[in-house]
Amino acid sequence: MKNPIVERVAQLIRPEIRALSAYHVPDAAGLVKLDAMENPYPWPPALVTAWLEHLRHAALNRYPDPAAHALQARLRATMDLPHDSALLLGNGSDELIQLIALAVAGAERVVLTPEPGFAMYRLIAAACGMRYLGVPLAADFSLDVPAMLAAIEQYRPAVIFLAYPNNPTGNLFDEHALQTLIEAAPGLVVVDEAYHVFARKSFIDKLARHPNLLILRTLSKMGLAGLRLGLLIGDPAWLTQLDKVRLPYNINVLTQLSADFALAHQQVFDEQARRICTDREKLFADLCGHGELRVYPSQANFILFRAPAGRATTIFEALKDAGILIKNLHAQGGLLQDCLRVTVGTPAENQAFLSALKNAL
Ligand SMILES: *Cc1c(COP(=O)(O)O)cnc(C)c1O
Repeated sequence: MKNPIVERVAQLIRPEIRALSAYHVPDAAGLVKLDAMENPYPWPPALVTAWLEHLRHAALNRYPDPAAHALQARLRATMDLPHDSALLLGNGSDELIQLIALAVAGAERVVLTPEPGFAMYRLIAAACGMRYLGVPLAADFSLDVPAMLAAIEQYRPAVIFLAYPNNPTGNLFDEHALQTLIEAAPGLVVVDEAYHVFARKSFIDKLARHPNLLILRTLSKMGLAGLRLGLLIGDPAWLTQLDKVRLPYNINVLTQLSADFALAHQQVFDEQARRICTDREKLFADLCGHGELRVYPSQANFILFRAPAGRATTIFEALKDAGILIKNLHAQGGLLQDCLRVTVGTPAENQAFLSALKNAL
Protein backbone atom coordinates (compact mmCIF):
# COMPACT_ATOMS: atom_id res chain seq x y z
CA MET A 1 0.00 0.00 0.00
CA LYS A 2 1.32 3.40 -0.95
CA ASN A 3 1.67 5.94 1.80
CA PRO A 4 0.09 9.20 0.52
CA ILE A 5 2.42 11.41 2.60
CA VAL A 6 5.58 9.66 1.41
CA GLU A 7 4.41 10.13 -2.18
CA ARG A 8 3.77 13.84 -1.69
CA VAL A 9 7.14 14.29 0.00
CA ALA A 10 8.81 12.60 -2.95
CA GLN A 11 6.96 14.89 -5.38
CA LEU A 12 7.61 18.13 -3.56
CA ILE A 13 10.97 17.95 -1.80
CA ARG A 14 13.81 18.53 -4.25
CA PRO A 15 15.78 15.36 -5.09
CA GLU A 16 19.09 16.87 -3.90
CA ILE A 17 17.52 17.51 -0.48
CA ARG A 18 16.04 14.01 -0.27
CA ALA A 19 19.49 12.64 -1.11
CA LEU A 20 21.09 14.41 1.86
CA SER A 21 21.53 13.08 5.38
CA ALA A 22 20.87 15.56 8.19
CA TYR A 23 23.97 16.64 10.12
CA HIS A 24 24.30 13.89 12.71
CA VAL A 25 25.08 14.79 16.31
CA PRO A 26 25.63 11.66 18.45
CA ASP A 27 24.15 11.40 21.93
CA ALA A 28 26.97 12.16 24.36
CA ALA A 29 25.05 11.76 27.64
CA GLY A 30 27.35 10.36 30.33
CA LEU A 31 30.40 10.29 28.04
CA VAL A 32 33.66 12.22 28.11
CA LYS A 33 32.97 14.44 25.11
CA LEU A 34 36.01 14.67 22.84
CA ASP A 35 34.20 14.68 19.50
CA ALA A 36 33.26 18.28 18.66
CA MET A 37 36.24 20.58 19.26
CA GLU A 38 34.66 22.16 22.30
CA ASN A 39 36.72 23.98 24.94
CA PRO A 40 36.56 21.70 28.03
CA TYR A 41 37.02 24.45 30.63
CA PRO A 42 34.26 26.13 32.63
CA TRP A 43 34.50 29.80 33.63
CA PRO A 44 35.96 30.83 36.98
CA PRO A 45 33.04 31.12 39.50
CA ALA A 46 33.52 34.89 39.94
CA LEU A 47 33.15 35.36 36.19
CA VAL A 48 29.93 33.34 36.15
CA THR A 49 28.51 35.55 38.90
CA ALA A 50 29.47 38.74 37.04
CA TRP A 51 27.98 37.37 33.81
CA LEU A 52 24.65 36.54 35.48
CA GLU A 53 24.60 40.05 36.91
CA HIS A 54 25.25 41.44 33.40
CA LEU A 55 22.29 39.46 32.05
CA ARG A 56 19.92 41.24 34.45
CA HIS A 57 19.75 44.00 31.85
CA ALA A 58 18.55 41.68 29.11
CA ALA A 59 15.23 42.89 27.69
CA LEU A 60 13.76 39.60 26.51
CA ASN A 61 10.48 41.28 25.61
CA ARG A 62 12.27 43.31 22.91
CA TYR A 63 13.76 42.19 19.63
CA PRO A 64 17.56 42.21 19.64
CA ASP A 65 19.54 45.08 18.11
CA PRO A 66 19.43 43.93 14.45
CA ALA A 67 22.99 45.13 13.79
CA ALA A 68 24.35 44.15 17.25
CA HIS A 69 26.24 47.46 17.44
CA ALA A 70 27.77 47.03 20.90
CA LEU A 71 28.93 43.50 20.14
CA GLN A 72 30.34 44.55 16.75
CA ALA A 73 32.38 47.29 18.42
CA ARG A 74 33.68 44.81 20.99
CA LEU A 75 34.63 42.30 18.29
CA ARG A 76 36.45 44.98 16.30
CA ALA A 77 38.40 46.05 19.36
CA THR A 78 39.34 42.58 20.65
CA MET A 79 40.04 40.95 17.27
CA ASP A 80 42.02 43.79 15.80
CA LEU A 81 39.99 43.89 12.58
CA PRO A 82 41.03 46.18 9.70
CA HIS A 83 39.24 49.56 9.91
CA ASP A 84 38.13 49.61 6.29
CA SER A 85 36.58 46.14 6.35
CA ALA A 86 32.98 45.38 7.24
CA LEU A 87 31.68 42.78 9.67
CA LEU A 88 28.67 40.47 9.33
CA LEU A 89 27.52 38.36 12.28
CA GLY A 90 25.93 34.94 12.00
CA ASN A 91 24.23 32.42 14.25
CA GLY A 92 27.48 30.44 14.21
CA SER A 93 29.79 30.59 11.20
CA ASP A 94 27.61 27.84 9.74
CA GLU A 95 24.93 30.46 9.14
CA LEU A 96 27.43 32.72 7.38
CA ILE A 97 28.46 29.86 5.07
CA GLN A 98 24.76 29.50 4.29
CA LEU A 99 24.34 33.26 3.63
CA ILE A 100 27.23 33.20 1.17
CA ALA A 101 25.79 30.19 -0.64
CA LEU A 102 22.27 31.67 -0.73
CA ALA A 103 23.59 34.93 -2.19
CA VAL A 104 25.54 33.31 -5.04
CA ALA A 105 23.43 30.18 -5.69
CA GLY A 106 22.11 29.58 -9.16
CA ALA A 107 21.91 26.92 -11.81
CA GLU A 108 25.38 25.51 -12.49
CA ARG A 109 27.01 27.67 -9.80
CA VAL A 110 29.83 25.67 -8.22
CA VAL A 111 31.17 25.46 -4.65
CA LEU A 112 34.70 24.10 -4.59
CA THR A 113 36.66 22.91 -1.58
CA PRO A 114 39.53 20.55 -0.85
CA GLU A 115 38.63 17.18 0.69
CA PRO A 116 38.70 15.94 3.38
CA GLY A 117 37.22 19.18 4.65
CA PHE A 118 34.47 20.67 6.79
CA ALA A 119 31.20 18.78 6.24
CA MET A 120 28.93 21.83 6.22
CA TYR A 121 30.33 23.22 2.95
CA ARG A 122 28.88 20.25 1.08
CA LEU A 123 25.61 20.09 3.02
CA ILE A 124 24.92 23.82 2.58
CA ALA A 125 25.91 23.86 -1.10
CA ALA A 126 23.49 21.02 -1.79
CA ALA A 127 20.70 22.61 0.26
CA CYS A 128 21.08 25.85 -1.71
CA GLY A 129 20.88 24.01 -5.03
CA MET A 130 24.53 24.54 -5.90
CA ARG A 131 26.90 22.11 -7.52
CA TYR A 132 29.53 20.86 -5.05
CA LEU A 133 33.00 19.85 -6.07
CA GLY A 134 35.56 18.34 -3.66
CA VAL A 135 39.18 18.18 -4.83
CA PRO A 136 41.28 15.61 -2.93
CA LEU A 137 44.18 16.86 -0.83
CA ALA A 138 47.60 15.27 -1.32
CA ALA A 139 48.33 12.17 0.80
CA ASP A 140 50.05 14.34 3.45
CA PHE A 141 46.90 16.57 3.56
CA SER A 142 48.64 19.49 1.87
CA LEU A 143 46.82 21.29 -0.95
CA ASP A 144 47.17 19.68 -4.36
CA VAL A 145 47.71 23.02 -6.07
CA PRO A 146 47.83 21.75 -9.68
CA ALA A 147 44.57 19.82 -9.14
CA MET A 148 42.93 22.84 -7.48
CA LEU A 149 44.07 25.16 -10.29
CA ALA A 150 42.78 22.71 -12.91
CA ALA A 151 39.39 22.54 -11.14
CA ILE A 152 39.24 26.34 -10.89
CA GLU A 153 40.01 26.63 -14.60
CA GLN A 154 37.45 24.01 -15.61
CA TYR A 155 34.55 24.79 -13.25
CA ARG A 156 34.99 28.55 -12.55
CA PRO A 157 33.64 28.15 -8.96
CA ALA A 158 31.43 30.88 -7.52
CA VAL A 159 32.94 30.16 -4.08
CA ILE A 160 35.98 28.30 -2.77
CA PHE A 161 36.03 27.42 0.94
CA LEU A 162 39.46 26.87 2.52
CA ALA A 163 39.63 26.03 6.22
CA TYR A 164 42.85 27.39 7.76
CA PRO A 165 43.73 25.23 9.73
CA ASN A 166 41.76 22.50 8.01
CA ASN A 167 39.17 20.33 9.77
CA PRO A 168 39.40 17.30 10.19
CA THR A 169 43.11 17.13 9.30
CA GLY A 170 44.35 19.88 11.67
CA ASN A 171 47.09 21.27 9.40
CA LEU A 172 47.58 24.79 8.11
CA PHE A 173 47.81 24.87 4.32
CA ASP A 174 50.88 26.49 2.82
CA GLU A 175 50.40 30.24 2.77
CA HIS A 176 51.75 30.67 -0.76
CA ALA A 177 49.62 27.83 -2.09
CA LEU A 178 46.55 29.55 -0.65
CA GLN A 179 47.59 32.84 -2.16
CA THR A 180 48.00 31.22 -5.57
CA LEU A 181 44.46 29.85 -5.37
CA ILE A 182 43.01 33.19 -4.26
CA GLU A 183 44.68 34.90 -7.23
CA ALA A 184 43.48 32.25 -9.69
CA ALA A 185 39.89 32.18 -8.44
CA PRO A 186 37.29 33.97 -10.57
CA GLY A 187 34.80 33.99 -7.66
CA LEU A 188 34.87 34.41 -3.90
CA VAL A 189 37.44 32.70 -1.70
CA VAL A 190 36.42 32.25 1.93
CA VAL A 191 39.30 31.50 4.30
CA ASP A 192 37.64 29.83 7.28
CA GLU A 193 39.71 30.58 10.38
CA ALA A 194 37.57 28.66 12.88
CA TYR A 195 40.70 27.56 14.78
CA HIS A 196 42.47 30.90 14.75
CA VAL A 197 42.80 31.06 18.56
CA PHE A 198 44.98 27.96 18.41
CA ALA A 199 46.89 28.47 15.14
CA ARG A 200 47.38 32.25 15.42
CA LYS A 201 47.83 32.53 11.67
CA SER A 202 45.49 34.64 9.57
CA PHE A 203 44.78 35.97 6.10
CA ILE A 204 43.06 39.01 7.54
CA ASP A 205 45.97 41.32 6.67
CA LYS A 206 45.70 40.16 3.05
CA LEU A 207 42.10 41.39 2.63
CA ALA A 208 43.22 44.69 1.12
CA ARG A 209 45.28 42.88 -1.53
CA HIS A 210 42.60 40.46 -2.76
CA PRO A 211 39.21 41.83 -3.87
CA ASN A 212 37.66 38.32 -3.82
CA LEU A 213 38.75 37.34 -0.30
CA LEU A 214 36.50 36.97 2.78
CA ILE A 215 37.57 35.79 6.24
CA LEU A 216 35.35 33.64 8.44
CA ARG A 217 35.81 33.36 12.21
CA THR A 218 33.79 31.90 15.07
CA LEU A 219 33.68 32.13 18.86
CA SER A 220 32.73 28.43 19.06
CA LYS A 221 36.14 26.80 19.25
CA MET A 222 37.62 29.39 21.65
CA GLY A 223 35.04 28.38 24.25
CA LEU A 224 31.62 29.83 23.38
CA ALA A 225 30.10 27.10 21.19
CA GLY A 226 26.80 27.38 23.06
CA LEU A 227 26.31 31.03 22.13
CA ARG A 228 26.41 30.45 18.36
CA LEU A 229 28.32 33.44 17.06
CA GLY A 230 30.31 33.62 13.83
CA LEU A 231 31.84 36.60 12.02
CA LEU A 232 32.46 37.29 8.38
CA ILE A 233 35.05 39.96 7.61
CA GLY A 234 35.53 41.59 4.22
CA ASP A 235 34.96 44.50 1.93
CA PRO A 236 31.71 46.41 2.60
CA ALA A 237 30.76 45.97 -1.07
CA TRP A 238 30.44 42.21 -0.53
CA LEU A 239 28.96 42.28 2.96
CA THR A 240 26.26 44.83 2.07
CA GLN A 241 24.92 42.32 -0.44
CA LEU A 242 25.23 39.30 1.86
CA ASP A 243 23.48 41.22 4.64
CA LYS A 244 20.29 41.27 2.54
CA VAL A 245 20.01 37.50 2.86
CA ARG A 246 20.47 37.56 6.64
CA LEU A 247 17.30 37.22 8.71
CA PRO A 248 16.90 40.47 10.68
CA TYR A 249 17.33 39.25 14.27
CA ASN A 250 19.73 36.35 13.79
CA ILE A 251 21.85 37.19 16.86
CA ASN A 252 19.62 36.89 19.89
CA VAL A 253 19.61 39.18 22.95
CA LEU A 254 21.34 36.68 25.25
CA THR A 255 24.10 35.97 22.74
CA GLN A 256 24.74 39.68 22.14
CA LEU A 257 25.04 40.42 25.86
CA SER A 258 26.97 37.25 26.74
CA ALA A 259 29.50 37.45 23.89
CA ASP A 260 30.14 41.13 24.64
CA PHE A 261 30.69 40.23 28.30
CA ALA A 262 32.92 37.24 27.50
CA LEU A 263 35.11 39.21 25.08
CA ALA A 264 35.66 41.84 27.77
CA HIS A 265 37.43 39.00 29.60
CA GLN A 266 39.33 37.76 26.58
CA GLN A 267 42.41 36.93 28.68
CA VAL A 268 40.52 34.02 30.32
CA PHE A 269 39.94 32.44 26.91
CA ASP A 270 43.45 33.23 25.65
CA GLU A 271 44.85 31.48 28.70
CA GLN A 272 42.62 28.42 28.07
CA ALA A 273 43.68 28.31 24.41
CA ARG A 274 47.36 28.39 25.39
CA ARG A 275 46.79 25.56 27.81
CA ILE A 276 44.94 23.52 25.19
CA CYS A 277 47.85 23.99 22.76
CA THR A 278 50.36 22.81 25.39
CA ASP A 279 48.18 19.80 26.19
CA ARG A 280 47.78 19.08 22.46
CA GLU A 281 51.55 18.66 22.14
CA LYS A 282 51.60 16.23 25.06
CA LEU A 283 48.65 14.29 23.64
CA PHE A 284 50.39 14.21 20.25
CA ALA A 285 53.58 12.80 21.79
CA ASP A 286 51.62 10.21 23.78
CA LEU A 287 49.71 9.11 20.66
CA CYS A 288 52.99 8.85 18.73
CA GLY A 289 54.16 6.45 21.44
CA HIS A 290 51.77 3.91 19.91
CA GLY A 291 53.87 2.79 16.96
CA GLU A 292 50.87 1.23 15.19
CA LEU A 293 49.10 4.60 14.91
CA ARG A 294 49.87 7.26 12.30
CA VAL A 295 49.40 10.60 14.07
CA TYR A 296 49.05 13.87 12.15
CA PRO A 297 50.46 17.13 13.54
CA SER A 298 47.77 19.72 14.33
CA GLN A 299 47.58 23.49 14.67
CA ALA A 300 44.03 23.26 16.04
CA ASN A 301 42.43 21.83 19.23
CA PHE A 302 42.06 18.30 17.89
CA ILE A 303 44.29 15.54 16.54
CA LEU A 304 43.64 13.22 13.61
CA PHE A 305 45.16 9.75 13.74
CA ARG A 306 45.05 6.66 11.58
CA ALA A 307 44.35 3.28 13.17
CA PRO A 308 45.77 0.00 11.87
CA ALA A 309 43.89 -1.01 8.70
CA GLY A 310 40.31 -2.09 9.31
CA ARG A 311 40.33 -1.33 13.05
CA ALA A 312 39.07 2.28 13.38
CA THR A 313 35.46 1.36 14.11
CA THR A 314 36.37 -1.33 16.66
CA ILE A 315 38.62 1.15 18.45
CA PHE A 316 35.95 3.86 18.31
CA GLU A 317 33.36 1.50 19.82
CA ALA A 318 35.75 0.24 22.51
CA LEU A 319 36.46 3.84 23.53
CA LYS A 320 32.74 4.55 23.66
CA ASP A 321 32.15 1.50 25.84
CA ALA A 322 34.86 2.89 28.11
CA GLY A 323 32.93 6.19 28.29
CA ILE A 324 34.97 8.23 25.79
CA LEU A 325 33.34 9.79 22.72
CA ILE A 326 35.62 10.78 19.82
CA LYS A 327 34.87 11.08 16.09
CA ASN A 328 35.01 8.14 13.72
CA LEU A 329 35.83 9.36 10.20
CA HIS A 330 36.48 5.97 8.66
CA ALA A 331 33.10 5.77 6.91
CA GLN A 332 33.95 8.91 4.89
CA GLY A 333 36.50 6.83 3.04
CA GLY A 334 39.15 8.27 0.72
CA LEU A 335 42.03 9.82 2.63
CA LEU A 336 40.07 9.37 5.88
CA GLN A 337 39.98 5.61 5.71
CA ASP A 338 40.87 4.17 9.17
CA CYS A 339 40.97 7.71 10.64
CA LEU A 340 39.76 8.88 14.04
CA ARG A 341 39.73 12.42 15.44
CA VAL A 342 40.05 13.37 19.09
CA THR A 343 39.45 16.83 20.57
CA VAL A 344 41.98 18.02 23.16
CA GLY A 345 40.22 17.91 26.55
CA THR A 346 41.39 18.62 30.07
CA PRO A 347 44.56 16.76 31.14
CA ALA A 348 42.36 14.27 33.06
CA GLU A 349 40.12 13.70 30.01
CA ASN A 350 43.13 13.24 27.73
CA GLN A 351 44.56 10.72 30.20
CA ALA A 352 41.26 8.81 30.33
CA PHE A 353 41.21 8.75 26.53
CA LEU A 354 44.81 7.49 26.35
CA SER A 355 44.25 4.66 28.85
CA ALA A 356 41.05 3.57 27.10
CA LEU A 357 42.90 3.70 23.78
CA LYS A 358 45.74 1.60 25.14
CA ASN A 359 43.21 -1.07 26.17
CA ALA A 360 41.46 -0.85 22.82
CA LEU A 361 44.70 -1.38 20.93
C1 LIG B 1 33.49 24.12 13.71
C2 LIG B 1 33.73 24.72 12.40
C3 LIG B 1 32.88 25.71 11.89
C4 LIG B 1 31.52 26.02 12.49
O1 LIG B 1 31.55 26.79 13.56
P1 LIG B 1 30.24 27.44 14.19
O2 LIG B 1 30.62 28.86 14.31
O3 LIG B 1 30.07 26.75 15.49
O4 LIG B 1 29.07 27.25 13.27
C5 LIG B 1 33.20 26.31 10.68
N1 LIG B 1 34.28 25.93 9.99
C6 LIG B 1 35.11 24.97 10.44
C7 LIG B 1 36.29 24.59 9.62
C8 LIG B 1 34.85 24.33 11.65
O5 LIG B 1 35.65 23.33 12.04
